[in-house]
Amino acid sequence: MTSVTVRLSDVQRRIEAAAGTCGRAVEDIRLVAVSKTHPVAAIREAAAAGQRDFGENYVQDALPKIEALADLGLVWHFIGRLQSNKTRAVAGHFDWVHTIDRERIAARLDAHRPADRDPLDVCIQVRSGDTDEHGGVEPERLYDLARRVADLPRLRLRGLMCLPPPETDVDRQRAHFRQLRLQFERLNAAGLDLDTLSMGMTGDLEAAIAEGATLVRIGTAIFGPRQPRNPA
Ligand SMILES: *Cc1c(COP(=O)(O)O)cnc(C)c1O
Repeated sequence: MTSVTVRLSDVQRRIEAAAGTCGRAVEDIRLVAVSKTHPVAAIREAAAAGQRDFGENYVQDALPKIEALADLGLVWHFIGRLQSNKTRAVAGHFDWVHTIDRERIAARLDAHRPADRDPLDVCIQVRSGDTDEHGGVEPERLYDLARRVADLPRLRLRGLMCLPPPETDVDRQRAHFRQLRLQFERLNAAGLDLDTLSMGMTGDLEAAIAEGATLVRIGTAIFGPRQPRNPA
C-alpha cells in the first residue's frame, strides 16, 4: 500500500507541473488535504510530511479529530454542507468555511465566532452545473450575498468556491472553473477584496489551476479511497 507521505508528494508534483504549464508560481496555490472519513493517524502522517491545511465535511466526525490533533496547530477548513444547528460548532473549531450559500448561515457563523479568535475566513460557494445537489448560491444572487457577508464583522470574506459535477473532459472542467474565476473578477472589480478561488479536486486539479485556482481541495489522491462512515 502506498503511504500518505508518498501520495502527498505526488500531489505536490502534480500541482507544480500544473502551475509550471501555465506559468504560475506554486506558492500561490494552497493545498488543502481533505481528510474526511480518514483516521487521525493518516492526518498525523500528512502533518509530519509538512501538510498544514486539512478539510473536513462532517462536523461530528471532525470535532474529535481536531481535538486529538490540537497539539499540531493545524489549519481546519470546513467544506461540507452547513446546517444551521451546526454553526456554533463550526465557528468554534474551524479556521475556514468554504460553503456559505445563504445569509442566514453566515449571520449565525458571525454570531457564534468566539471573541478570542480571529475572524473566521470564509468563501461563498457558487452553484455550478444545473442541479442543486451540492448547494451553492445561484450566480444571480452572488453579488448581494457577497456584500452582506463582507459586512459581517466576525467573518472575513476571502473568496469563492465551487463543486462542479464530475466531468472527464478537460475543456468542460475548465468551463466550470472559468465561470467562477469570472465571477471572482467581477466582485473584485466592484470593490470587494477577494484573494481565494477554492476549486479543484483529485480529478480536475490541473484544469482548476489553469483557470486560476489559489486553493485546491484534494482527498482521494492523498488518502486513498474514502472509508465507509459509521452511521451517526
Ligand atoms: C470530498 C471533497 C473534496 C475532495 O475530493 P477528492 O475527489 O477526493 O479529491 C473536495 N471538496 C469537497 C467539497 C469535497 O466534499
